[in-house]
Amino acid sequence: MHGHGAGDDLLKQVANRLKNCVRRTDTVSRLGGDEFAILLTDFDRPAFAGEVAEKIAHRLSEPFLLNEVEVNISTSVGISIFPDDGHDAGTLLLHADTAMYHAKALGRGRTQFFAQEMNQRTAERHALEQDLKAAIAKGQLSLYFQPQLETNSAEMIGAEVLLRWHHPQQGLVSPARFIPIAEESGHLMVSLGNWVLENVCKQARVWLDAGYSIPRLSVNVSAVQFRDDQFLQQLESLLHNCHLRPHILQLELTESIIMSEVEGATDRVRTLKDMGVCIAIDDFGTGYSSLSYLKDLPVDELKIDQSFVHNIQSDRDSAAIVEAVIRMGESLKLRVIAEGVENGESFAFLAQNGCEGLQGYHFSKPIPAAAFERQYLINF
Ligand code: C2E
Ligand code: MG
Ligand code: MG
Repeated sequence: MHGHGAGDDLLKQVANRLKNCVRRTDTVSRLGGDEFAILLTDFDRPAFAGEVAEKIAHRLSEPFLLNEVEVNISTSVGISIFPDDGHDAGTLLLHADTAMYHAKALGRGRTQFFAQEMNQRTAERHALEQDLKAAIAKGQLSLYFQPQLETNSAEMIGAEVLLRWHHPQQGLVSPARFIPIAEESGHLMVSLGNWVLENVCKQARVWLDAGYSIPRLSVNVSAVQFRDDQFLQQLESLLHNCHLRPHILQLELTESIIMSEVEGATDRVRTLKDMGVCIAIDDFGTGYSSLSYLKDLPVDELKIDQSFVHNIQSDRDSAAIVEAVIRMGESLKLRVIAEGVENGESFAFLAQNGCEGLQGYHFSKPIPAAAFERQYLINF
């Protein structure tokens, strides 16, 4: 976001702070990218390493000055200890890396000591990744559809498309589990994302050819897929080959996608909009706090995150956030949809507060294409 020079400068400043957190006899090194390794010697209690990690996390959480701009970063630390976690440098580094990876998965700014179970989990993850690579060719993927209803008329105004993986041994694996694995490998997420887009378009064509009128189909797009160079061009040729009007398709992007590498991302959103594709912001309210992108970008829809909707009754702050998002959508002329509507009380609250659209188990779970066609599509 601030240029390569600023990136180099940040690394140097981090290195200096790291050196100040350890003793003269310890070793600080940079492994590459944004990864540093620290070798601590001569200490008698493992907790010492944890204390150093805490000190580091604290020192690095203080703002950095890059070209006179204040920047904040977060740090994840993984710790492995000789001889319990390994007898040689390679194993110790590998296990510290595994621990750091687990720290990252827990959220920003965490520290984790290596534990043998982590190897087990890493192995499971690896196995799942191998299986996922084969899933497309083996026909184990399918698309489910979840209707989105207009609050006042109860008419269907759209449907969210959700990917499902039918694993031969493990049964239905949740996308919440396999999407992060695919994203980690990058290329795999691009393949999955392309499979989803291609099959949504083909399904839409089949329904249109059979004489059905179809609602707007809303597809989730991963950051990895969105960044891919071929993304826009592939989408355009897909729509063209399936003879689809672009506005039947909506892409669900998260705030973090839009706020990442700011320049490129916003240009892509504009190009998509020029193509005629609709844009929704998914999980709205959970990402970055900057709202300025909403006035600069051609966004059509805000999807209020489930976490707020689930707590409408129990938590006044959640209710207040839901209300505020609805008001903001009104002022900015954006459609607001609440996801995760599970009961009549949430429904009533959202209707009372003028939320335009609703999606959730209270109306329907995501269902396979055939069931969706039977229950929700009207043939003319
Ligand atoms: P999301 O895009 O926020 O999708 C909404 C999730 O909430 C879906 O979970 C949906 O089944 C679930 N849901 C809907 N109504 C309710 C409700 O009333 N209560 C509760 N508790 N849950 C509800 P699902 O299908 O497991 O997907 C999880 C996440 O995986 C999605 O979150 C999305 O981020 C990701 N995902 C799913 N399909 C795709 C895909 O094709 N591509 C990408 N990149 N991500 C996908
Ligand atoms: Mg979504
Ligand atoms: Mg969501």
